[in-house]
Amino acid sequence: MSSPIAKLNFWGVRGSTPTVDPATWRFGGNTPCLDLVAPDGTQFILDCGTGLRMLGNRWVAEDSVRTAETHIFVTHYHWDHIQGLPFFAPLYVENNEFQFYSFRSKFLGRDSLRQVFETQMALPYFPVDFSAMSAKRKFRELEGGESFLVGENKVTARHLNHPQGCLGFRIETAAGTIAYATDNEPGDPALEKSLRELAADADIFVNDAQFTPSQLATTKKGWGHSSWKEGVNIAREVGAKTLVLFHHDPDSTDRMVDGLLRDAREEFDSVFAASEGMVITLGAAGQPVQAHLPGSRTALRREAQFRAIVTGIGSDGHKFQEETTVRDLALRGALISLKDSPRLQSELEVVMETPGPNGVREMRLRGYVVRLEAGVEKGTTAVGVVFTD
Ligand SMILES: [Zn+2]
Ligand SMILES: [Zn+2]
Repeated sequence: MSSPIAKLNFWGVRGSTPTVDPATWRFGGNTPCLDLVAPDGTQFILDCGTGLRMLGNRWVAEDSVRTAETHIFVTHYHWDHIQGLPFFAPLYVENNEFQFYSFRSKFLGRDSLRQVFETQMALPYFPVDFSAMSAKRKFRELEGGESFLVGENKVTARHLNHPQGCLGFRIETAAGTIAYATDNEPGDPALEKSLRELAADADIFVNDAQFTPSQLATTKKGWGHSSWKEGVNIAREVGAKTLVLFHHDPDSTDRMVDGLLRDAREEFDSVFAASEGMVITLGAAGQPVQAHLPGSRTALRREAQFRAIVTGIGSDGHKFQEETTVRDLALRGALISLKDSPRLQSELEVVMETPGPNGVREMRLRGYVVRLEAGVEKGTTAVGVVFTD
């Protein structure tokens, strides 16, 4: 019997406001949106930031057969978590059904989320009004302490510490447990306990990591966000297996996020920095968690191995050149095993011999080192490269 599989896709990982500057393209500029397909086929969407638009386009492009109903969990009503709603194409398709979950805001009152929809699409802020959305929509208000079943999956909602309130969610599937806790700040004992309950023994713990530990302690105190360090501490404390740093600051460049990730990895084995297009598979054979970097899904993938000469700058600052084999090659990147250890974010040149219809051809690619991990063979480093040309 094959083991059950759950797939978690990241469509938006940026906090506060979308970013389009080139310095942020690698981790991505869309605001929070994830989707999860549980082993029983239940479809979940977590938050409706600008990433939601791309998820909707994917659905339309795939024209795939989906279950009629999708369950959408909205953590709170700040712009970055709702801004994608009017641009989610499946909401304009009659036969689609959406069950929304959110909480009653004291600023909005009854049916808060429905009001958010209406206000967001009110004239003159949007060209068509709420009634243009022909999909069936149901709204459920959560108290923030309950657990309930959605399909065969147990969902738990808890309040988190954030201005005007926020919910965190824990989804227990047959393939593993996901805790989604964005927009939370440490400091409130009761809500810190709630956060730990959500994350307890989770396979994937997605946590707010907007600020550096020192920002969080000083200039950004009270802004409602957290740091990689808090995430690591909580993951350790409650036995969460993999930590995903999420809700990157709009002013954090890719290089800065690389730095946060590097710091976090020094203290905790299994950490990823959420990036747009990242897919995490739970329950896959052999490994509890598998993550794929953006590009690898749609891009050309080759199982074949290529002999390659790699030139780069080592961690000691000196230039190196090494011959190796490239195993995992996609259009936008590759994973290369090296004895040398290049610097994170340094430039790397990879010259490969690739077989083609007219014999062996030399392919010269330039890229940046985006990831460094211990290699499979002793004494090697697995180097993740994103090609820039
Ligand atoms: Zn946010
Ligand atoms: Zn917020």
